[in-house]
Amino acid sequence: MNKKLLDILVCPFDKVSSLELFQFKAKTNPNSLTTIADNEEPDSQKTLTNKKQNDQKTREPSTSTNSPPISEMNKEPSEIVEEGLLLCRTCLRFYPITEEIPIILPDELRDKKKDIAFLKTWNESIPIDLLKNLKPWTL
Ligand SMILES: [Zn+2]
Repeated sequence: MNKKLLDILVCPFDKVSSLELFQFKAKTNPNSLTTIADNEEPDSQKTLTNKKQNDQKTREPSTSTNSPPISEMNKEPSEIVEEGLLLCRTCLRFYPITEEIPIILPDELRDKKKDIAFLKTWNESIPIDLLKNLKPWTL
C-alpha cells in the first residue's frame, strides 16, 4: 500500500474517521522514480530566469541558484507499506495490511481467522493497550 493512500482512506464503519498507520514492514518504491523530461523551450528560458530571481527576493538570500525543478515532487520515492495495521481511533477497528494490500472491510465481510492470525503474527509490534481493545475482535 502506498503511504500516500492514507490521506484518502477512511474507516468503513464510521465513514469519516481517517486511519492511523502502524507500519511493521515497508520499502521505498523505485518505480516512482520517473524522470520527467525538461520540455522547456529555449525561448522561455529568459522568463524562467526572471521568475527564479523574483522567487529569490522573497526567499532567503542565501538560497542557492540551483533551485529544485518543479518535477521534484514526482521524483520523490513513495513509501510502500508491505505489512502493517490501519487503526480507526474513533471505533478502534483495525484493518490489516498484508503483502502490500490493505484489507479494509466492514465487520460482516471480515475473515476472523485471518484477522486473528494477523494479530498473532504482529502482536509484539502492537502496543499492548491497543491490542487489548481492538475491534471487532482481538486476541
Ligand atoms: Zn472507525
